[in-house]
Amino acid sequence: MARQHVQVAIIGAGPAGLFLAHLLKRKGISCVVFEARSRKYIEGRVRAGVLEHGTAELLRELGAGARMDREGIEHDGVKFRFGGRDHHLDFPSHTNGRRIMVYGQQEVVTDLLDAWLDGGGDLHFSTPVTAIEDADTDTPAIVYEDADGTEQRLHCDFVAACDGFHGVGRRSVAQMRSFVVEPLQYGRLFLAGDAAHIVPATGAKGLNLAVSDVRVLAAGLADYYRTGSEAELLTYSERCLRKVWRAQHFSWWMTSLLHRFDDDVYGARLQVAELGYLLGSAAARTVLAENYTGWIDPDLGF
Ligand SMILES: Cc1cc2nc3c(=O)[nH]c(=O)nc-3n(C[C@H](O)[C@H](O)[C@H](O)COP(=O)(O)OP(=O)(O)OC[C@H]3O[C@@H](n4cnc5c(N)ncnc54)[C@H](O)[C@@H]3O)c2cc1C
Repeated sequence: MARQHVQVAIIGAGPAGLFLAHLLKRKGISCVVFEARSRKYIEGRVRAGVLEHGTAELLRELGAGARMDREGIEHDGVKFRFGGRDHHLDFPSHTNGRRIMVYGQQEVVTDLLDAWLDGGGDLHFSTPVTAIEDADTDTPAIVYEDADGTEQRLHCDFVAACDGFHGVGRRSVAQMRSFVVEPLQYGRLFLAGDAAHIVPATGAKGLNLAVSDVRVLAAGLADYYRTGSEAELLTYSERCLRKVWRAQHFSWWMTSLLHRFDDDVYGARLQVAELGYLLGSAAARTVLAENYTGWIDPDLGF
């Protein structure tokens, strides 16, 4: 690789890494993406499929939403089936018209990749990052092997670890509580997406949280390159964690609402009571609809 220095090194070409790359490019910030797997592998990796309203909007804003609008399926709500009946919960009427989009994560990744590579973006497939160095200095570096197996270093101003739950980023940070790493920043290393937190799939929040993390990070980096101050970047953890913990709570609540737990008669009665409350209360339905389509943090605006 000819390049010796870049403003932001991004580890991982999942949703977090690719959304971040596009957001930074839009702000004129240089970045390189390193992906451990091949293009074919990540374009075929089936995972999430529920996009919050704001995630779908952002894909359009980045110029990568045309296929989603053709092939994705907009959902106006969900059906609960219990007590021998279907109960429909309508989202738009509880959320000022917000919906969800059903569109596979692998399609989102494919569309973002196409747009990134067509626009001349720098991305290295099959190139695992093996270490992050000097994250507590102003000149961190990432270490990787080139195609010949020779160890290389790329120096940068910041490292964005968007490398998922098993990546090198999270291992480079010491503290971890439950499934949320706190803080999400260590010096000039920032964790985003699954590298920072995991939620049970019931709430369909993982991909969407990855997107909201990198929106906060991109805004902080843009402010840094505009003003030279790290003040906004230093609030990255705190600003992300509000949405992260809201999603943790929603996912936990959905799991306790929808899963059967063996021999727990008391818990089963609580579930039925909660489902009945959902049907009988517009306020309860609004809480579910607002969280499912994507709670908007008033301070972030998304
Ligand atoms: C079965 C399933 C269903 C799901 N359903 C939903 C859903 O409906 N809605 C939802 O929002 N979320 C869902 N999720 C969660 C969602 O898939 C994740 O939250 C999402 O993939 C997180 O994106 P990410 O970019 O943070 O991480 P990832 O998608 O894991 O991307 C990380 C990338 O980093 C690469 N990488 C790892 N280590 C290195 C390294 N050392 N060097 C370079 N690259 C590296 C990986 O190959 C990968 O491409 C689901 C997950 C699963 C498994």
